[in-house]
Amino acid sequence: MKFTTMAICKECGNATYDYLLLCRNCFRNLIQTINTLRPSDVHDLTDIFPSYIIETMDDFLQKDLNEALNCIAFELWTATVLMCSRILESSLKIHLNHDLKCEKDFSSIGECITALDAYYPPEFTDHLNKLRELRNDAMHGEKRFSSESAIVIWHRVFIVIAWIYNNI
Ligand SMILES: [Zn+2]
Repeated sequence: MKFTTMAICKECGNATYDYLLLCRNCFRNLIQTINTLRPSDVHDLTDIFPSYIIETMDDFLQKDLNEALNCIAFELWTATVLMCSRILESSLKIHLNHDLKCEKDFSSIGECITALDAYYPPEFTDHLNKLRELRNDAMHGEKRFSSESAIVIWHRVFIVIAWIYNNI
C-alpha cells in the first residue's frame, strides 16, 4: 500500500487515508448498496455513486456505465453482461497504466488481476477472480444470461468501479 497521511471522509467527515475518498464504513455502505440494487432503483449513475466519485471518472467510462444501466432498464441481459465486461476490462487497464503507472501492455484480465494484487487487499483480487470466471462464460458464448446472473455481474463490476474510483 501507499505511504500516506490522514484525511477526511467525503461522506461523513471521519478520518480516512489521504488516497481514499471514503472511510472504511462509508465504503462498506456503498458496496452494500450496490450489492442490493434492483433495476427499478436505478435511472442513472447518480442513483449509485456520489457526485464526488462520478467527477473523477473519464467521460467515456461514465457513458459506458450509463449504457450498461440502459441495457438493464430494457432488460437486455446478454447485452448487460457484454457491456459490463467491456467496462471491467477497460477500467482495470486504465487504472493500472494511468493511476498506478504500470508501463506494461496488459492483454488479459488475468494479467491485470496479478498486477493489482500488489496494490489491493486479497478481498479485492478474490472479488476480481470470481468475476473473471463469470465473465469468461459470457465472452465464450457458453450461455445466454438470465436476469439473475446479469444482475450479479452488474453488481460485481460496479463494485470494482467503486474500489478503483474510491482511490484518488
Ligand atoms: Zn465516512
